[in-house]
Amino acid sequence: MEGPSLVILKEELKPFVGKRVKKASGSSLYRLGPIQRHLFKKVESWGKHLLLHFDNEILKVHFLLFGSYRINDPKPNYTPRLQLIYDKGELDLYSCSIQVLDRDSYKEYDWSKDIMSKKWSSPQAVRAVKEHGKEMVCDVLLDQNIFAGVGNIIKNEVLYLERIHPEAKVSELSAAQIKALVKRTRSYSLQFYRWKKKFELKRHWQVMRKRHCPNCQRRLEIKHTGKRVRKSFFCSYCQPLPH
Ligand SMILES: [Zn+2]
Repeated sequence: MEGPSLVILKEELKPFVGKRVKKASGSSLYRLGPIQRHLFKKVESWGKHLLLHFDNEILKVHFLLFGSYRINDPKPNYTPRLQLIYDKGELDLYSCSIQVLDRDSYKEYDWSKDIMSKKWSSPQAVRAVKEHGKEMVCDVLLDQNIFAGVGNIIKNEVLYLERIHPEAKVSELSAAQIKALVKRTRSYSLQFYRWKKKFELKRHWQVMRKRHCPNCQRRLEIKHTGKRVRKSFFCSYCQPLPH
């Protein structure tokens, strides 16, 4: 799940805020005892982290690659990693990592790096990208220390919209290209959120899981790129490698 999806989840959890956990269970290695019967006070998202604040501690949930959730609709025959039962309703989290977040680590969260945050800073991201000149742009976009919340969908779509080859090195891009890429990543993430809220995100995909380039109709390249080896969908004609 990418940043915009976490924001939607955060909104969906609002009805539970201020409610007491009746029962906490699940297969997580995290000791669930402490949050039993405690008050769920606040929910936040930072990048791909979901932060569940209880009156005694904070849980950090990371959905990894295949994590999912259900609200008032548990999956049959499937043990959730974490299940929270309230007087009215329940939340089930699957295939995710759950950790207790200590107060000091929480204070270190830099909201200006969260692609969905009001505090997001594009100039700061531009500077950080430029410090990774030797890296491929496909890796830098997925760097959660620069673009917290950006995942593979946003990466592929943004590189296509900016006509940048995923294997281009940052040092091969002009300052104007880097600036435009950062701005596009922010605006696309916000757009992703709006589309997803209307259940129409996939309809707007240009290259993600597509076979042909919508611009030139040539066959797209589908390749695992960069040191992160994540799948890239791109048009090598419209997104040529810099010379
Ligand atoms: Zn093309």
